[in-house]
Amino acid sequence: MSQYEIYAIKYAGPFVRTGAHVMWYQDWEKIETINYYIWCIKGADETVVVDAGVTPQMASERELEGYVNPAEVLARINVKADEVRHVIITHMHFDHAGGAALFPQASFYIQEDEYRFWLEDPVAGRPAFKQVSDSVSSGYLKSLEGTNRLVLLKGDQQILPGIQCLLSPGHTVALQTVAVNTAGGTAIIGSDCAHVFRNYQEDWPSALIVDLVGWMKTYDKLRERASSAELLFPGHDRLLAENYPVVAADVTRLV
Ligand SMILES: [Zn+2]
Repeated sequence: MSQYEIYAIKYAGPFVRTGAHVMWYQDWEKIETINYYIWCIKGADETVVVDAGVTPQMASERELEGYVNPAEVLARINVKADEVRHVIITHMHFDHAGGAALFPQASFYIQEDEYRFWLEDPVAGRPAFKQVSDSVSSGYLKSLEGTNRLVLLKGDQQILPGIQCLLSPGHTVALQTVAVNTAGGTAIIGSDCAHVFRNYQEDWPSALIVDLVGWMKTYDKLRERASSAELLFPGHDRLLAENYPVVAADVTRLV
């Protein structure tokens, strides 16, 4: 079966958060440092980008510290954003989907239930949801509906040999994670099913919960699929940038 390497691409941060943001309802008095990332899956023939980061315009609107255009960071490992053919969107929070327009040739893979929620459910316009969404990238994705550049997935689905999207709800209505065949076994790009490794280690969610029961069942599912606990990666842990081989500025090889 096809085998891939996984790279973490840091495009913004560090950001300071209260501990209760990354360990929900705990650590109120503590401070945590997190980063914003996208991921790149590289194989012999195929390159897949997981999440899109944010555009320079949104970064300045939201005053994101330490921001570098994700396309610029990808170029450091010889990936040209404007030639990428496959982008998996794990969920439609602004820090994950906001940079969709940076990938003008790509097909975007999103869970249909996630997409419909953000585009069509009036609840998505309520303040708690609106603050983490982005109407510009939503509009961009909507403009692709009906073309082969928007692929709406229903549940677990393989998109290329050795790369499978897994429905993983909890943090959002239909977040998806990505199971990847690597030299070390099956690795999971878990996105915001965990902000940090500790969430998995202590069996505890991070902030922004839409379905806590679903979140815990997602943990069961991901632990079963990952070949080892070390191959289950969180979405925002600073250790992604610190504990792995650095292959270029802001780029580490996770496996
Ligand atoms: Zn996030």
